[in-house]
Amino acid sequence: MNFIDFVKKYPDEASCIRHFRAVKERKGVVCKKCGNTHHYWNKTYNSHDCSKCGYRTTLRSGTVMESSKLPFQYWLYAIYLMTMTKKGISEAEVQRQLGRKHYEPIWAMMHKIRSVMGLRVDHYELEGVVELDDAFFKTHTDDEKGELTQRGRGSQRQSKVLVMAKVDPKRGRPRKNKKTSAFRYVKMVVIPDSSAKTMNKTVSARTSSSSVIKSDGWHDFNKIKEISSKHIKKIVPPKEASKVLPWVHTMISNAKRNFLGVNHKIKDVYLQNYLDEFCYKTNRRYFGKDLFERPMIAAVEDTWYGKARYNCG
Ligand SMILES: [Zn+2]
Repeated sequence: MNFIDFVKKYPDEASCIRHFRAVKERKGVVCKKCGNTHHYWNKTYNSHDCSKCGYRTTLRSGTVMESSKLPFQYWLYAIYLMTMTKKGISEAEVQRQLGRKHYEPIWAMMHKIRSVMGLRVDHYELEGVVELDDAFFKTHTDDEKGELTQRGRGSQRQSKVLVMAKVDPKRGRPRKNKKTSAFRYVKMVVIPDSSAKTMNKTVSARTSSSSVIKSDGWHDFNKIKEISSKHIKKIVPPKEASKVLPWVHTMISNAKRNFLGVNHKIKDVYLQNYLDEFCYKTNRRYFGKDLFERPMIAAVEDTWYGKARYNCG
């Protein structure tokens, strides 16, 4: 959906409410009190009122929008801007585009949307051939007073990220200077340390036990064989690692370039949310308009809320 069509379809708050309502009704509304599935729409409160007991379920209740006071239009526009811009968009830019005075609510909204994307990324496991490597991302921490480092305070650190890329071998004769495999999906996870236990736990939660793990064989990945049916490791000097694991390295540099260009400074505790957004969009690069529709649907699903891990107050 291009911008002209989007604005035509959702010109105001009422049209956005209609859309969120339609998405929610398509999934079905269940009364929390009596389990009834038949509801009347209450226009005054934007809620589904139970036809049996009168219990009111608001459109935001139990969804990612719960406790947010921002108009539905902001949510819809933010999801649009985040999913339909190839490189992503910063919180400050969305704030400008929405003409909102305060930064914090926009910032929190966008992190919640990222966490919805993260739940989608977690939804499936990688199988087949999976390239595995770790990377360091430059992040910022709070200073002693707990001030945000966006104002230049606090200290820098390197956050360690485990990167897994599912690839398919290419058919036909290998061509010179071309990768011999095709990229499919990527997952990136911030890890607290690089012990074998952490590595194995992180990898096994996200890949199928039958998958073939390819790594550059440094000591961090020594015990991967405990969780994978096949572990191919090739010990090469760090400079040549990108030849053994081409896609993992391409994804790491794409993500870093993206963050540098769009988000500038990322606080360590929020890095996972940014990685989730990057993976979500990369894995759905051929989705077209569904790229926008899917997080929309996830945003009104009332099942996600308890599981969410977003880190934004
Ligand atoms: Zn009821």
